Amino acid sequence: MVGVIEKRDIRKLSLEEVKTFFVERGEKSFRAQQVYDWLWKKAAKDFDQMTNLSISTREMLKEHFTINHIRVDNMQRSEDGTIKNAVTLYDGLVVESVLIPTKDRITACVSSQVGCSLDCKFCATARLKRMRNLSPDEIYDQVVAIKQQAELFFNRPLTNIVFMGMGEPLLNYINVIEAITKLTSPEGLNMASRRITLSTVGIAKMIKKMADDDVKFNLAVSLHDAINETRSAIMPINETNPLEDLADALKYWYKKTKRKVTYEYVVWKDINDTQEHIQALVKFCKHIPCKVNLIEYNPIDDGVFQQASPEAVQRYQSTLEKNGIVARIRKSRGKDIDAACGQLANKS
Ligand code: SAH
Repeated sequence: MVGVIEKRDIRKLSLEEVKTFFVERGEKSFRAQQVYDWLWKKAAKDFDQMTNLSISTREMLKEHFTINHIRVDNMQRSEDGTIKNAVTLYDGLVVESVLIPTKDRITACVSSQVGCSLDCKFCATARLKRMRNLSPDEIYDQVVAIKQQAELFFNRPLTNIVFMGMGEPLLNYINVIEAITKLTSPEGLNMASRRITLSTVGIAKMIKKMADDDVKFNLAVSLHDAINETRSAIMPINETNPLEDLADALKYWYKKTKRKVTYEYVVWKDINDTQEHIQALVKFCKHIPCKVNLIEYNPIDDGVFQQASPEAVQRYQSTLEKNGIVARIRKSRGKDIDAACGQLANKS
């Protein structure tokens, strides 16, 4: 079709590219900075919000570009204050993000992929097949939406970000890093890297890559068991990425970054609630400085996995602590609205 301009998503452009766009059309290059502020600092969804630009400039932008913003279509609030968002992407696919309030923090838990390819047997997201990676701005926008909810509903600022929503962030590495770069830059939200945690199943070669890239955020690894046979049965990724490789990568990570790792660990009845598994974990924890979060199991109605007894969890905690390893028992949040870890499955 002659004369029709194929519109691009303007947020795929760097600041330099927006500048070039303006200069080529005889406009002042500082306009680019104004547009960029609207797009990233104020998360504008429409060119008409950009009121410091003339109407003709806005029309010109509309002719060439779209803003592929996300839409929070369904917001559910838990009894404990947790908010779960169903987030519709520009192509109609849906992911979920969660706001978790505590006494001194407000944490945004965000998704990095639509669905997940890893098939962890205890996780509801695994039932959705992986559809696609999220783009950097789709990740960024989830944080902005939660930041706005924090201010609106709690009158408090957003303090932390965790990549513990849907998907495996290390299988969408480039986009996740780009989103984090924006989130931590003065052009974006100016968040501190040390308040961001990326959670992964523990893909060894990507952990090494992060160490090489000198990333400044925190690393959490979903461990759940430190015996290969058991871990492979519940997390198939472990078959090709066994604990030995994971330990190697973590040692490399620590050598380069000097930062502790957090292990996430669920204790299940008849799966990993015995002394043998506790001892294996203690041994694994000796590789590098770390701490263990013993997280509560959030049932996904499959009948196979059941939370272990409080005594079993206690046994884990006291054995770890006796060995000088910090271990915390974490209550889950937002369970009543299926917003807790592993429950994100686009039910609504
Ligand atoms: N793919 C990343 C991030 C998503 S899962 C990862 O695996 O770390 C976020 C956390 O929730 C992980 O620690 C995961 O193991 C945990 N999780 C998954 N299903 C769960 C469930 N049903 N109950 C409790 N935690 C669960």
